[in-house]
Amino acid sequence: MKVGKDVDTDIRRVEAMHHALPNVAFIGDSNQGLSYQECLAFADGVRRFSGRLLLLEQPVERGNLESLAHIRRTTDIPVAADESVRSLADPRTVVEQHAAGYINIESMKTGVIEALEIALFTLKAGLKLMIGGMIESCIAMGCSFSLVLGINGFDVLDLNTLLLLAADPVQGGYRYDGPMLQPWTGTGLDLSTIQPR
Ligand SMILES: [Mg+2]
Repeated sequence: MKVGKDVDTDIRRVEAMHHALPNVAFIGDSNQGLSYQECLAFADGVRRFSGRLLLLEQPVERGNLESLAHIRRTTDIPVAADESVRSLADPRTVVEQHAAGYINIESMKTGVIEALEIALFTLKAGLKLMIGGMIESCIAMGCSFSLVLGINGFDVLDLNTLLLLAADPVQGGYRYDGPMLQPWTGTGLDLSTIQPR
């Protein structure tokens, strides 16, 4: 869930989803939108109704690795660095400062080659891998899913933005079968049909 605009509203939204789907754990992604104190208040608010936070994704501003490290220690909730990692140099700093347990890879953020290098570095450093994206069709997301299938080391997949598109200009490729991602069977990314816009 996207959070980070208003902590009280965020807590109420997560609570409503928790009551509707009690067995589901949530990733709270604030896109750098929380302060350190707001993040603690959010985690505390979710804990009060026994909500399960799988991850806090980039809770605070990208350069504030010190707060990311504090949040991990204080809340015991795993933290994923997303905006904090925009090049191969960044995850090295994240590791040095113990700022996150997960690195979120996005091929649109770094390009595919650097995304691959960051993913391999992350695994070598003993951190966990997540993969996400911007608002992308299954061309870019299929490419990201290729990384997932090829590297076989990702713990969290957030490749669902094709489900948010009102009209996808591309057909074929990977697909969602309920919550499960299904790979394609054809050659390349199996994107054989392009609809005229
Ligand atoms: Mg993110």
